[in-house]
Amino acid sequence: MLLLVVSTFQSFPHFVYAGFAWSLVGLTVWNILAAIKKVTKQASRMHQIPCATCQFFTSSYDLKCTVHPQIAMTEEAIDCSDYTLSKYPDFNSQHSPSLKGVSSNGTSLVSRSHGCSQ
Ligand code: SF4
Repeated sequence: MLLLVVSTFQSFPHFVYAGFAWSLVGLTVWNILAAIKKVTKQASRMHQIPCATCQFFTSSYDLKCTVHPQIAMTEEAIDCSDYTLSKYPDFNSQHSPSLKGVSSNGTSLVSRSHGCSQ
């Protein structure tokens, strides 16, 4: 039985095997290009999320946004009607989540949370 199978495959012309091989190479390249395109599209979509420069973004894991905490930093926030450009967008995006308050001139009211409530 095995000999029959082997002799059947040996009777195929070589271009059939070459066709299978190049088809596999083509499918692999096509899948890689499709994955790159998908990742690039998703990354550009993520960069449209405006929360990092929004006035209402807090940089806190506990309450990301004071207006829409349920959609902050998600794709749903891309068309947020309450987006307001922060006066200090770099300050918003660079400070750690433990930072709790900011005065009107951009300085910290409470520098770091150390678990002390004083
Ligand atoms: S108001 Fe909208 S854009 Fe601003 S942080 Fe909240 S969800 Fe994001």
